[in-house]
Amino acid sequence: MPVSDSVELSNASENAPSDASDALPINELFYSLQGEGRLAGVPSVFVRTSGCNLRCWFCDSYHTSWEPTHAWLDVEEILEEIAAYDEADHVVLTGGEPMIHDASVSLLEALDDRGYHTTVETNGTIFRDAPIDLASISPKLASSTPTAERDPKGDGEWADRHEADRIDLDALAALVDDYPFQLKFVVTDEADMPELTALLADIREVADTPIADDDVLLMPEGATRERLEETRNRVAELAMDYGFRYTPRLHVDLWNDAPET
Ligand code: SF4
Repeated sequence: MPVSDSVELSNASENAPSDASDALPINELFYSLQGEGRLAGVPSVFVRTSGCNLRCWFCDSYHTSWEPTHAWLDVEEILEEIAAYDEADHVVLTGGEPMIHDASVSLLEALDDRGYHTTVETNGTIFRDAPIDLASISPKLASSTPTAERDPKGDGEWADRHEADRIDLDALAALVDDYPFQLKFVVTDEADMPELTALLADIREVADTPIADDDVLLMPEGATRERLEETRNRVAELAMDYGFRYTPRLHVDLWNDAPET
């Protein structure tokens, strides 16, 4: 389902409103099944904002990060689009990084007023005070950095900034302390595990809230069925070896890399 029949997506620099406090750049808005995490399989409306403060080389929403495209919609317009899916009571606010936008808080407050369950998919670098039912926190490991060899667009120009910004322990601890949460790590292979376990130890040190091993989800890297076939079994085995949870990427299994899934 397109964002709107009457609104065309445009590049990031175009059509920005002069006051963005009550509007969001929407890359896509659609109804599907939550594909990842502890709510996998739950019918949900997805609101995908455009724009991200990071640049993972494997980003599966390229048009919110590397080449952002979107239509600006007021919070009221977004609520109307969501309400059109009257069978859904779960909303997933995702990106890009939705927490870079002030108006994400307004949207979450309005959704809370209307009784929706809200999940926010975040890279964990930004904390905002908002009514969030599940903070789905996905800290980015060093294997995400767009070095020159695997930069999808250039020659590694984003690598230093990405590397400097990808972990913010204070923001991670605040998210864990203030919201029901899951920590969801994109894992390629065993080489990711020393960094993952060290980061988990750091977050446990800083946060007041205990983090159980089954709050930690390992998700195989891969945005296509072909790539998941390479990563899925070894990540499942790592989850068993370490006592963490494994999360599928149900939407990739069902629909491969089709948009609006
Ligand atoms: S943090 Fe998420 S949206 Fe941003 S570049 Fe990485 S994978 Fe893409």
